[in-house]
Amino acid sequence: RTGLVSGIRPTGELHIGNYYGALKGLVELQERYDARYFIADVHSLTTHPKPDGLRGLVVETARNYLAAGLDPERCTLYAQSSVAAEVCELHAYLSMVMPLGELLRVPTFKDKAKRHPDNVNYGLVGYPVLMAADIFLVRTELVMVGEDQLVHLEVARAIARRFNQLYGDLLPEPQPLVGNAARIPSLSGQGKMSKSDDPAACIGLGDDERTVEEKTRRALSDPLRAYRHQPGHPTEDGCNVFRLHTFFTGEAEREEIAASCCEARIGCIDCKKRLAERLSGIVEPFRRRKGSIGEADALDALRLGRDKAKEAAGRTIADVRRAIGLQML
Ligand code: ATP
Repeated sequence: RTGLVSGIRPTGELHIGNYYGALKGLVELQERYDARYFIADVHSLTTHPKPDGLRGLVVETARNYLAAGLDPERCTLYAQSSVAAEVCELHAYLSMVMPLGELLRVPTFKDKAKRHPDNVNYGLVGYPVLMAADIFLVRTELVMVGEDQLVHLEVARAIARRFNQLYGDLLPEPQPLVGNAARIPSLSGQGKMSKSDDPAACIGLGDDERTVEEKTRRALSDPLRAYRHQPGHPTEDGCNVFRLHTFFTGEAEREEIAASCCEARIGCIDCKKRLAERLSGIVEPFRRRKGSIGEADALDALRLGRDKAKEAAGRTIADVRRAIGLQML
């Protein structure tokens, strides 16, 4: 099977936007590819998370992805720090072929440096090189990235070309597989759903059925429909609740809802109830599965992933050292 790699940010509580935009996709991809997913705990140090919290975040992230359906036997789920020695060694070699000027011009670096001028660390500049090391360590053909990471993948591709020119064809030039760019809107109708959003406007994957229903009941719907007997405007732009239905409700049911809304046969409360059922249809099974996955299960999965990742990483490092001429003894 074709190899694919993707990095996962270690974050704790997730929302249904994360499920739709990240978890679901990675779970589907494990069926089609030889998928390697690493929890990017080393990368997260660019923003200095607290040491006592980091381990818990990694475990929590693993539990989330296992609950979403990642199968540690089918894919390779590992913490980036499990191959820290290998990834940092490779990072050092790759950094020698990467001109500093190009890294300083990477837009995401410039943006981060501008937003956090008090924390422009060396690791931040080298972030795309460390990401290239993550990719080349497992030498996969495909890299699953969000659109914002495409520029980093270009850096990785440039590194592969330069490295291969100097040392022979060793690093496959990776192709991007861009994830679904559609964004789940916030319940408030203001931008996308996000963890920095008002919690009341964001459906958490830990929310119980009642909370999902209550939050959905308060969601912004059709501002032009003041009364139940008025016809509504069930389009993506006309009604935020209908827009949410387009993500979570099947086409046939959606058409039926739209027709009923246009003829004022269904009110916003009923429509929101049906949306809440759909949302709970995702959140509830997730919550149940997560409840049955303890820290020990997450650690077992990460150990299995570590062993598989270490094997691939060891092979890469041996090949790279040999090619560079560092294997003298
Ligand atoms: P922040 O509040 O810091 O912006 P976030 O809640 O947007 O965080 P991230 O950690 O930035 O979440 O994103 C994790 C993953 O979830 C990414 O792959 C991102 O594309 C996806 N994602 C986040 N929000 C949504 C959303 N509303 N719809 C679809 N996908 C989303």
